Amino acid sequence: MPESTMQKIVSLAKRRGFIFQSSEIYGGLKACYDYGPLGVELKRNIKDAWWRDMVHRRDDVVGLDCSIIMHPDVWRASGHLAGFSDPLVDCRNCKERFRADKAPRAVPGSALVCREGGKRDGRKLAGTVGPAGYVCPVCGSGDLSPERQFNLMFRTSLGPVDPVQEILDALDSLVELEPSKRKERLAGIVDRTAVYLRPETAQGMFVNFLNVLNSARVKPPFGVAQCGKSYRNEITTSNLTFRTCEFEQMEMEFFVEPGTDEHWFDYWSRARFAWYQSLGMRAEKLRLRRHEKEELAHYAKACVDVEYFFPFENPEGEGEWGELEGIANRTDYDLRRHSERSRKDLSYFEAETRKRYVPYVIEPAAGADRAALAFLCDAYAEEMVEGEIRTVLRFHPRLAPIKVGVLPLVRKDGLPEKAGEIMRELMAAGINAFYDESGAVGRRYRRLDEAGTPWCVTTDAETNANGSVTVRERDSMRQTRVPMTGLAEHFRRLLGGG
Ligand code: ATP
Repeated sequence: MPESTMQKIVSLAKRRGFIFQSSEIYGGLKACYDYGPLGVELKRNIKDAWWRDMVHRRDDVVGLDCSIIMHPDVWRASGHLAGFSDPLVDCRNCKERFRADKAPRAVPGSALVCREGGKRDGRKLAGTVGPAGYVCPVCGSGDLSPERQFNLMFRTSLGPVDPVQEILDALDSLVELEPSKRKERLAGIVDRTAVYLRPETAQGMFVNFLNVLNSARVKPPFGVAQCGKSYRNEITTSNLTFRTCEFEQMEMEFFVEPGTDEHWFDYWSRARFAWYQSLGMRAEKLRLRRHEKEELAHYAKACVDVEYFFPFENPEGEGEWGELEGIANRTDYDLRRHSERSRKDLSYFEAETRKRYVPYVIEPAAGADRAALAFLCDAYAEEMVEGEIRTVLRFHPRLAPIKVGVLPLVRKDGLPEKAGEIMRELMAAGINAFYDESGAVGRRYRRLDEAGTPWCVTTDAETNANGSVTVRERDSMRQTRVPMTGLAEHFRRLLGGG
């Protein structure tokens, strides 16, 4: 069977050092990934572009960097401890465990056929779709367990006490207690030291609302942005880094006066949709999807997702819309909840109008890993060049991990030395460049195409004669002659930085 686009991307990601399976030499760890030398640059460039556009290029947004472990009351107030859960279902046929809300929909009561044990060569089984209206995403069976809620927060304990050891020590005394008291004692032992890895960065902005207000001299409408790791014990993980248990978010909470929230919701929905295109993502692969009332979180007044059409494999073929970012109108829910629990007044007093209000929040919440995967998929292209398939990653120059490849045409006549000079100039200017002198120049161009490098500079005989070099452009493969002096400035201009 020919390789699917996604299989090709996964193998390129590994071969070229974008994404590796975590702890691979020990057999890997499910849904955990490491970024290789090219991947780390790609993801960093995405985060830098986000920070530049969301913070540095605006006078109404400031940044923040909060700790991953926060006071457990944060999660009590936000509702995460009670309700940050997904509906978990087990397939009785193939034993797959999956999320009910992400399972393929089917008409309740309609007939279905699947294979015993989910195996291709298994016996054919007839069945019907249950009243919940979905089937197993792996084998298509309707023989499923009831849904049960599974909290996605990772719990750990803070301090030099191990709650498991405490429970073991208390076991004898627990036996004498009646079951409800025993449960209470056990919960007490766990809760005394329990803390959680944050499942989103947003709460850091809400609990620091007063700190930012008082220190940064901002007033609504203003935003607080943060980029950092979040953790969710996801039930199903798939498709490389699309859904993992440890991931990075890029979130911004924009505090506005109630009544202006709908304007700002529209503003940020449009701005965030345009952002992906400004970095080269193809418009036809992007869409904005508005949530129906039933899909909205209970605190949200409105929500739209920016979605990308990933080349994921599914029973119908290739291609599936997946969320890159959600833009939500969170109303004043979060500030009110934290106000109630902490007993701190989180309202804003507008001196000019003498008005006091609890701001509404518009939140564009994006994922850095999902964005990196989407930009990688979007950049991937194959084309026939002189009877050979050329694989190229058409990254926007700002996102490209390596900006310039530097190649001496041959390894003699002083050309490597000239190329070395260019390398030093580019590195001094902070432009990520890569030196390559091994193999035929055509092969070297192909290797750099596959890494998504937008430009290559080649030193050749003319460099010695008149001080010019060849600059080859990745997408058009056009070659032009450019003076060797001032190359750093030349590329800085092309990168939009001068
Ligand atoms: P989903 O419906 O896919 O689970 P979500 O709606 O729960 O996502 P949010 O809570 O809105 O996601 O988080 C904002 C962004 O963080 C998402 O749009 C996505 O880009 C990223 N994100 C969320 N969960 C994960 C994950 N498990 N792995 C990678 N990225 C994630």
